[in-house]
Amino acid sequence: MAEAPPAGRRCGFVALLGAPNVGKSTLLNTLVGSKVSIVSPKVQTTRSRVLGICIRGPAQVVFVDTPGIFEPRRRLDRAMVQAAWQGAGDADLIVLLVDAKLGVDGDTRRIVDGLRKTKRKAVLVLNKIDAVKRTGLLKLAETLNGEGVFTDIFMISALTGDGVDDLAGHLADGVPEGPWLYPEDQITDIPMRLLAAEITREKLYLQLHQELPYSAAVETESWQEFDDGSVRIGQVVYVQRPSQKAIVLGKGGQRIKALGAAAREELMTLFDRKVHLFIHVKTREKWADDPERYRDLGLEFDV
Ligand code: GDP
Ligand code: MG
Repeated sequence: MAEAPPAGRRCGFVALLGAPNVGKSTLLNTLVGSKVSIVSPKVQTTRSRVLGICIRGPAQVVFVDTPGIFEPRRRLDRAMVQAAWQGAGDADLIVLLVDAKLGVDGDTRRIVDGLRKTKRKAVLVLNKIDAVKRTGLLKLAETLNGEGVFTDIFMISALTGDGVDDLAGHLADGVPEGPWLYPEDQITDIPMRLLAAEITREKLYLQLHQELPYSAAVETESWQEFDDGSVRIGQVVYVQRPSQKAIVLGKGGQRIKALGAAAREELMTLFDRKVHLFIHVKTREKWADDPERYRDLGLEFDV
């Protein structure tokens, strides 16, 4: 018989929605700190991947990301948007993060409309309050409140941490009672590989912006630990076409070098040890049209 959970424990999923650059990653880092306890095996583009886990008193709050909610054009786009809403639907709470400096842009508008259409309520979080005037902030809060899809509004600076504690407390109170779903201890070797791949993928997108489709994937192929505490990480960036490979490599390999340096630096901070990072770029054709890959990623092919 399963052991009864310690009294008063709570655990639940919080879907973190928001347009690119609103500060989702920054908020997670502030909430979770270096305690990124687990990274889902389906880390690349699944319907809901675990971003981080925040333990607060008796509550374990599991933040899940949903692949970007944007305007679907190609088949893969449509599959991802579908998956995103599915992921949000599965969550116990939805948080919509908005850049208070930028206000409501097209992406945010689409998410708000999506919430209304799916009849979901969300916690509104206005971020970057360190960078805006109070009057503008209140106006934005008022406007968004009028949408009728928000249960609460928080104003925070993910960067300075201002207001984040209140938000964390609210979310911790909001997840349902139940046993914790994830171990409390630190990341193991396998999630670390995935985490490492995810970090390189992020650098790839940061440096290449729109030049590369998000069908590009990063895999950590080797992980070797040395006596001096350092680790050698071997990764492969998979792209679909030779032209994309050329983009990732850059002139004389400059792009991949810069990318590797940025990823390496973050990995060293994250793992708190010396990292030797080796990245190769390989072409894997037909990737975006292969139903098998969709299933691997937890996406529906026919949408
Ligand atoms: P994401 O794309 O939603 O994950 O956004 P990021 O967390 O990567 O943040 C995008 C940019 O906004 C970065 O340059 C952050 O440093 C910046 N940023 C995030 N949160 C804040 C904040 O509270 N205040 C300010 N001024 N900048 C922020
Ligand atoms: Mg991010």
